[in-house]
Amino acid sequence: MRVLHVCTEVYPVVKTGGLADVTSALPLALTKLGCDVRILVPGFPSFQEYLIDKKLVFELPPRFNAFSIRVFVGTLPTNGLTVYFIDAPGLFDRPGNPYTNASNQDYLDNYRRFALLGWIAARLAEGMDTSWVPDVVHAHDWHAGLAPAYLRASEFWLKRKLAGSVFTVHNLAYQGNFPGHAFSEIDLPPHFFGVDGVEFHGQLSFIKAGLMYADKITTVSPTYAKEILRPENSFGLNGVLQKRIDDISGILNGVDTDVWNPAADEAIAIQYGLNSLASKAQCKTALQKETGLKVQNDAPLFCIVSRLAVQKGLDIVLDGLPEILGMGGQLIVLGTGDTSLESAFRNIAYAYPQSVSIHTGYDELKSHRVIAGSDIILLPSRYEPCGLTQLYGLRYGTLPLVHRVGGLADTVVNSSDENIKARTATGFTFDGFYYDAFMGSVRHAFALFKRKKEWQQIQHNAMRQQFTWEAAAKRYLALYEQVYRSHKPVS
Ligand code: ADP
Repeated sequence: MRVLHVCTEVYPVVKTGGLADVTSALPLALTKLGCDVRILVPGFPSFQEYLIDKKLVFELPPRFNAFSIRVFVGTLPTNGLTVYFIDAPGLFDRPGNPYTNASNQDYLDNYRRFALLGWIAARLAEGMDTSWVPDVVHAHDWHAGLAPAYLRASEFWLKRKLAGSVFTVHNLAYQGNFPGHAFSEIDLPPHFFGVDGVEFHGQLSFIKAGLMYADKITTVSPTYAKEILRPENSFGLNGVLQKRIDDISGILNGVDTDVWNPAADEAIAIQYGLNSLASKAQCKTALQKETGLKVQNDAPLFCIVSRLAVQKGLDIVLDGLPEILGMGGQLIVLGTGDTSLESAFRNIAYAYPQSVSIHTGYDELKSHRVIAGSDIILLPSRYEPCGLTQLYGLRYGTLPLVHRVGGLADTVVNSSDENIKARTATGFTFDGFYYDAFMGSVRHAFALFKRKKEWQQIQHNAMRQQFTWEAAAKRYLALYEQVYRSHKPVS
């Protein structure tokens, strides 16, 4: 089975969020199951620099406002994965964030940039690389949403069957909607701009393209797959999702244990595991020193490692901070994004330097030290498609405190008395995005933190959890086989 993943981010080369973790770990896990996997990405400067053994595969006349279009294949030196990248000067050779300019504004020509990504996926499916033609194209998030549409368009024009397709929604809120007139520039048949196509309230919608034209749709956790079918969680896409209801499923993300393993993590002060959990205290001390917090082992140390976005619900942490600090807690925030959230945390850190520390920016190694050194990781997200940092927290014995939604509901078991007794408790959950619900959970964590034996037992339960990419890859492979068998071109 040949599978082409189409995406914009791959860890460790380009990463702005969890998508990059998925698109590096899943292809590798699929490869281990015998699947022949390749990845297609835009030729952002980092991909061009990072990949090795690059070879030109094909060249096409310019379009989508690129000066030229050349597709290369290279190898990711970190894991040997084969990656196609599109060298399109004018479109992708821009430094910094893949989606936004230096003032953090979306590039106005993003529809052209990511249309080209989907368009090249279809060219590969048509056989432009004669040595490797995919059986299934797996498109990730709105940036790759046009890939399934271009596949259908090619089938329509060529009157032959091409690869089947899977579209994974990593976050339904990010849709890639553009003014309707953009449709005339992206080389799809006119009848694709309709209610059963890529048109969404007069706009061109990349995510709708993926949802309408892919053979199967997945989300990154089973609970999120159910949640998005409720109108209040569907970001206006309820009608589309209801149409595709029989083709939607949720496959839980896993943890890349080559990257996230406290027993072998070079980034942290001292490695530790289930049988050497006492060493975690040294990571805590080192982290408190590094961040200027008062060194004290008996204060519960909370952390946040996150995009600072409304979705992540961090305003509720700001509301609760006076009480958290009053109870003797400490907080470290590692995040970047919304400037008002950044400055709100910064102001508190300024007022309470021994208890609160904020580090704005993106720092992969620091994220390991923060997660290893903290006692509790906070994810009060308003909604959460899967969430990865709670999984990293579990592995590092840093108990997640989460709003029980989406992937957080699927992965964290509340430390109720019954669950502690049954040895299934792995963290703290609260229901409903309310201050009282959140703070109830925080107080519960404070109380348990003092009961050292029970805390340690919960840490052990957490560290034993197995959220593996192997399990996820098996489910994706079964889906690819289903798609491959049943894929039919649509007229
Ligand atoms: P999302 O994709 O919504 O941002 P996820 O929890 O799925 O959230 O994935 C976030 C990923 O980004 C995790 O790997 C997390 O460790 C990482 N991350 C988020 N913020 C930072 C940061 N400031 N520095 C380093 N890593 C971060």
